[in-house]
Amino acid sequence: MGRLFVVSNRVAQPGDVQTGGLATALQTVLREQRGVWVGWSGSYGEGPPHVHIGEGIRYCTLDIPEPDFNAYYHHFANRTLWPLFHYRVDLVDYRREAYEGYRDVNRRFARALARELCADDVVWVHDYHLIPLAQEMRKLGFAQRIGFFLHIPMPSWDVLSMLPGHEELLGCLADYDLVGLQTDGDRENLRASLETIGRNGIRCELATFPIGIDANAVAQVAAAPVALSAAEELRASLSGKRLAVGVDRLDYSKGLPERFRAFARYLERKRAHREPLTYLQIAPATRTAVPEYQKLRKELEGLAGHINGTHARPDWTPIRYVNHSYPHSVLTGFYRAADLALVTPLRDGMNLVAKEYVASQDPSDPGVLVLSRMAGAADSLPEALLVNPHDMDEVASAIDTAVSMPAPERRRRWQAMMENLRRNDIKRWASDFLERLRGPATAPSARLDAAAPPKTALMLATRRT
Ligand code: UDP
Repeated sequence: MGRLFVVSNRVAQPGDVQTGGLATALQTVLREQRGVWVGWSGSYGEGPPHVHIGEGIRYCTLDIPEPDFNAYYHHFANRTLWPLFHYRVDLVDYRREAYEGYRDVNRRFARALARELCADDVVWVHDYHLIPLAQEMRKLGFAQRIGFFLHIPMPSWDVLSMLPGHEELLGCLADYDLVGLQTDGDRENLRASLETIGRNGIRCELATFPIGIDANAVAQVAAAPVALSAAEELRASLSGKRLAVGVDRLDYSKGLPERFRAFARYLERKRAHREPLTYLQIAPATRTAVPEYQKLRKELEGLAGHINGTHARPDWTPIRYVNHSYPHSVLTGFYRAADLALVTPLRDGMNLVAKEYVASQDPSDPGVLVLSRMAGAADSLPEALLVNPHDMDEVASAIDTAVSMPAPERRRRWQAMMENLRRNDIKRWASDFLERLRGPATAPSARLDAAAPPKTALMLATRRT
């Protein structure tokens, strides 16, 4: 069996502090399959890739000149593709020179791979930063099997087609042997778009591989002393009040202003309630140089101040809004302390926080997950209270239902979700994808219609910044 190459914008190296479940899962398969991890070095510049071995994995990282990195990453990936793929066409900022920089950096990745690849190796490319990579490799003459996994949503054709040059970008996906998507809906969107541009059935197989978490590992971390004492301290600070928690990067896809307003609606309905609910929102700031993110931050500060000013009492602040980030050892304690989680993105490829919240619960007294239907996680967690994040009244009612849900129903829902998370964990996600990638080739005409594999879950928590 040939080696496995994983390619992603950033690589997780031994000793990195913020190594999440995905990184750990990928490191495990890379070790097993004599793997090589290729990505950006984190430095600006030119020159040959840096190669070193760490804990049985060969790392090949490349410097990228700053202007090219800005065009590729900060602009085309984060200001064009990210909003477009999350259905925020109003925020798409398309510049032809940024697209050119994006293609150029993908060519650099292809050249770096060319120095390392042997004939029987396979390549697994991750996420929207690297859509054109297979095409650049094919141009260099590589016939190896190349797979791609899209971690974010795949929008429908009417949204995709607003992107200048969309046919060229979509056509790049047809150069992969296997494209993995988070949900059946994403897969069908891509299938329909490839059919529309006449690029179906040539080489590319499309399949669903919902990413999961390492549910048992998360459950263990949540029951360890660090998490338990974080949970205890948090609960003690509530003076007996119930707690809702939200954990999201400060990103417009996460539906935070809508969630704040829905919480305010709940408070208005419960004005005379004797045991008010406290809502803790952890929202680490990301992409702070981008104007849309600065605007969102201001809006949330205004909303939190207004809601607290309207509803607070001398002994109670309704919203605790925190812009710091926390390690999983502490976060799982917050999850465990909370009676309910509010996970209400307007669009999300999967949403790992939803899965981590479930895995962190005390089995004898689990909390309730309020989950957006627009998150990929809703497909795997139908026992959550599913809501439309745009419907303030529906979210407010779901909060009410969650707060008053009897323990037997909470346990029944939690058990069903936890079973699913354990069965479809991140190791299975990685092994299902790789089995399919390395598997025997199917007839070209059958490829685009291949049935989805059993739903798997992948877990992991690469942090997006
Ligand atoms: N996360 C974290 N510390 C924080 C906030 C978030 O470690 O303070 C992690 C969280 O546990 C999850 C990941 O960041 O694993 C976020 O993944 P998700 O799929 O929910 O959203 P994304 O940020 O990838 O869009």
